[in-house]
Amino acid sequence: MIVVRRVVCPGSFDPVTNGHLDIIGRASRLYDEVVVMVSINLAKKSLFTVEERLDLIREVTRDLGNVKVDSFRGLTVDYCKQHDIPVIVRGLRAVTDYDYELQIAQMNHRMSGVETLFMATNPLYAFLSSSLMKEVVQWGGDVTGLVPALVHDRLIERLKDA
Ligand code: ADP
Repeated sequence: MIVVRRVVCPGSFDPVTNGHLDIIGRASRLYDEVVVMVSINLAKKSLFTVEERLDLIREVTRDLGNVKVDSFRGLTVDYCKQHDIPVIVRGLRAVTDYDYELQIAQMNHRMSGVETLFMATNPLYAFLSSSLMKEVVQWGGDVTGLVPALVHDRLIERLKDA
């Protein structure tokens, strides 16, 4: 029997940044398959639609070869159960991420037994977040090298009239 070692990277990805990509790329070298799951949160205002976010992630992870994209509305652990995925990977940027991430990871484990593995962010991207990228681009700041070129173009296009 062939066992596929699969992991999920959940998040909003509004839009995907080089910080996300760094974590996804490193996870893709550790596992047979990485599922990047865009969580649908109707209460959260987003700049890009779920479909747009999925397309961007698909484009910028194509070369990795073992990355799939999907979206889901509900608990990440329910997605894991439905797709037989035992592990969630999350990036940890700084202590500010820690409290929240620990709480979610412990709750997820209690609910389902699904494990959360934390990957220390590449220090090059430790200050990066999707919201900061949006804020900077909106006011004409330069985020070259912090998001993939395709995402950069889409951000400028989307925010030029904002
Ligand atoms: P969420 O709304 O769930 O926090 P995000 O899209 O902001 O979704 O983040 C998804 C995942 O990517 C989380 O594990 C987050 O910690 C990680 N992440 C976000 N930004 C970075 C970054 N700059 N470097 C490494 N990991 C990051």
